[in-house]
Amino acid sequence: MNPVALITGASRGIGRGIAIELAKIGYDLVINYARASEAAEKTAADCIAEAKASGKTVRALTCRADISLSEDRQRLVDFARREFLRIDLLVNNAGVAPTVRADILEAGEQSFDRLMAINVKGPYFLTQQIARWMIELTQRLPPGPEYRPKIVTVSSISAYTASTNRGDYCVSKAALSMLTPLFAIRLAPHGINVYEIRPGIIATDMTSGVKEKYDKLIAEGLTPINRWGTPQDVGRAVAAIAQNLLPFSTGEAINVDGGFHLRWL
Ligand code: NAP
Repeated sequence: MNPVALITGASRGIGRGIAIELAKIGYDLVINYARASEAAEKTAADCIAEAKASGKTVRALTCRADISLSEDRQRLVDFARREFLRIDLLVNNAGVAPTVRADILEAGEQSFDRLMAINVKGPYFLTQQIARWMIELTQRLPPGPEYRPKIVTVSSISAYTASTNRGDYCVSKAALSMLTPLFAIRLAPHGINVYEIRPGIIATDMTSGVKEKYDKLIAEGLTPINRWGTPQDVGRAVAAIAQNLLPFSTGEAINVDGGFHLRWL
């Protein structure tokens, strides 16, 4: 029986990159998305094809659900329960940037509320629900070689980097960062490890509108590893966790940022 991962926001970008890397190592997948069903179906088909090319057979099913809405989160969890009967890995990846970048002296409450609902409230309560299910499963499948459940949350370098033209995003990612230590401590007695991934500047739809700005900053030496990150870079970090390669680490924040977080002279 394959292990099962639920990835939020996996139709495009980083979530898609994570889905493909997990498919290659034999994970069955719940590919969540909010709006773009064609993109989600394509990701599912690509996951199945990539798995096959790696000698694996996996199932990859899509499920539309807005993670900021409690009824949608319930439907997403019910879908995973019904279709796969188990859950080995939750990846809280879905997240949004402000529709318009605005100075913190001007930015409005509507954008703040939207970002907090999708970037913080959604993953917080989805993690609560999935963690309860994982604990339930550990009663039947004792933690060990058979069942080593894990939770990964994708935050951002914006959790600690101030951008005054998108304060709402920074505040939401800083808040999201606390999810990992909280659940790591609470779930350790149940054998559930919890990790945060902090991507740097990754080439996706989210950053396409500021491509020229970041091209210039990267060319000027913003990051020690001097290139854009890719969804595959993040996917490989999640795949390392998914393969139990960090068994004695929990509550850990892993930077996937080309060294952006380093201070140097
Ligand atoms: P993206 O290309 O804009 O993709 C966003 C994904 O999230 C899509 O699959 C989208 O689904 C889904 N989504 C959006 N709102 C949702 C909701 N309410 N419920 C469920 N799914 C929702 O973004 P990305 O660049 O891959 O970013 C993914 C994560 O990485 C985000 O949390 C982001 O903050 C974080 N991150 C990104 C970067 C970067 O440089 N790109 C850097 C650091 C951190 P639809 O296709 O249906 O719209």
